[in-house]
Amino acid sequence: MGCEEDVKKIGRGLAKMASDGSGGQSQALDMLKQLQRLPITLEILQKTHIGLTVNTLRKSSQDDEVILLAKTLVKNWKKLIGSTPTRAEDSSSRESRENKKSSTTPPARPVPAKQTSFPAGNTTDAVRLKCREMLSNALKGNGLPDGCAADPDELAERIESTCFDEFNNTDTKYRSRIRSRVANLKDPKNPNLRLGVLIGSIKPERLAKMTAEEMASDELKQLRQKLTKEAIDDHQMALTSGTKTDLLKCGKCKKSNCTYNQVQTRSADEPMTTFAFCNECGNRWKFC
Ligand SMILES: [Zn+2]
Repeated sequence: MGCEEDVKKIGRGLAKMASDGSGGQSQALDMLKQLQRLPITLEILQKTHIGLTVNTLRKSSQDDEVILLAKTLVKNWKKLIGSTPTRAEDSSSRESRENKKSSTTPPARPVPAKQTSFPAGNTTDAVRLKCREMLSNALKGNGLPDGCAADPDELAERIESTCFDEFNNTDTKYRSRIRSRVANLKDPKNPNLRLGVLIGSIKPERLAKMTAEEMASDELKQLRQKLTKEAIDDHQMALTSGTKTDLLKCGKCKKSNCTYNQVQTRSADEPMTTFAFCNECGNRWKFC
């Protein structure tokens, strides 16, 4: 698509200006005006992160005209983001929504019938419940990272269920499988495993089956190398396309539409820093 390419190209130019101060203000203004003329859709916004780029430029600029135009663009794009899903919701009458609220809440609780359709989901087995608790505590650690919206209990349940499905009993093999997950999640030398599960880059079903070597961060190191290559430095962080997740929650707008990047900020021995940013409001934060 032509428009997307154009936006990307302009985005790269603007990002460069914002990061090294190159290019005059008139050049920046020109580019912003080009953006203003392009038929930018929600999809393009999400793919290119142009909103973040323009916002970064706005913050670094000294020129009133540039700042104003950048502000206007971002404001208009935000409307684009806000309009699509909420409009549809608004059209369904408010009354029916209120009715739904009061009537759907109680049956939403787990019904006993679920046990037959999804035997692994609910269990009264004391060993299995204990294992879930251990996994959940390992995931919780000394507290969840900032903005993490993942439910450790639910993740623990999915890890445990996957292990149980494999062995179909709670004998030695099952127990040692659970124990090794817990130990690795708690390993202070391997914080990226726990973080990966919490932010959704490692699915709980996958963690349930990972070998000791896979968990012992060799693979995570490779992931780290790959990501480091892509994600150049803190400043350009917001501009490189990260991984989308709904397991992180923005502290500002409370929405769960975030993207994260993991970067090696110092030496390779240190854990990666994870940068998160909100696709809704542009809020950025980092956690280790
Ligand atoms: Zn936000």
